[in-house]
Amino acid sequence: MRLILLLAVMMGLRAEVRQGDVIRVAGPGESARMNGRTVRLYGQADGSRLGLMPVPAAEKPGDYALEVLDASGKVVRSGDVEVKDARFRRQNVLIAKQTAALAASEEETRLVRAFLQAETEGRYWADPLGLPLAGCMISPYGVQRFHNGIPTGNVHGGWDQRGGKGTAVRAAAAGVVRIAKMFELRGGTVGIDHGQGLETMYLHMSGFAVQEGAEVKEGEVVGYVGSTGRSTGPHLHWSILANGVAVNPAQWVKVKACAAQAAAGKKK
Ligand SMILES: [Zn+2]
Repeated sequence: MRLILLLAVMMGLRAEVRQGDVIRVAGPGESARMNGRTVRLYGQADGSRLGLMPVPAAEKPGDYALEVLDASGKVVRSGDVEVKDARFRRQNVLIAKQTAALAASEEETRLVRAFLQAETEGRYWADPLGLPLAGCMISPYGVQRFHNGIPTGNVHGGWDQRGGKGTAVRAAAAGVVRIAKMFELRGGTVGIDHGQGLETMYLHMSGFAVQEGAEVKEGEVVGYVGSTGRSTGPHLHWSILANGVAVNPAQWVKVKACAAQAAAGKKK
């Protein structure tokens, strides 16, 4: 069973979250603010309002105020959130110099940035999300990445799952395909806008099953596992983005760690 542990913050109460979590903020109100980040609350089918406040992997652990604002920007409710240290691990990746040197082109950076800023009124997604493929997890979210022993300064913004070249990659939820392009850094990339601040991205794919602008259902094939862009072998890197911030898929879907990964985890 896929256990969804999303947090609905009861405003006025104290809530505990971990780095990488999404806080579901309920209205009434137009937007929510925490640590300088503001997200919109969107109208739901039942008349309520909901916003997705991401807690980035690199958020400093500690106490933060979560505020709900009205249309004029006045704080109408507030609560306390304690961000706990998720204790993400470190991971070294052995990578050929040529591959490590791959960078995003200006176009890639611009298109991904525009995608991450989408504010789509309609809601396509529903709980629970689905796994894009069945393969076990090679690398979890949040690990601090080293390339050949040198810190990259990046944290892993998604999951890497095992999959043979050509394995079908499925949409984690219904939505609209905004990106279906072969990029330099990310390789074959599909970006889906699920509406109301929720997006997913699928990278390093060998090819596409959808075009930009297509509406997809949950589970629909969007592309195929590959090793394009900055990748060391066939796998799927995918990520869940809440208002443009990569968040921990573990809060949304369940997956088994690959055997080597599980063994490494036990040693700790
Ligand atoms: Zn990855």
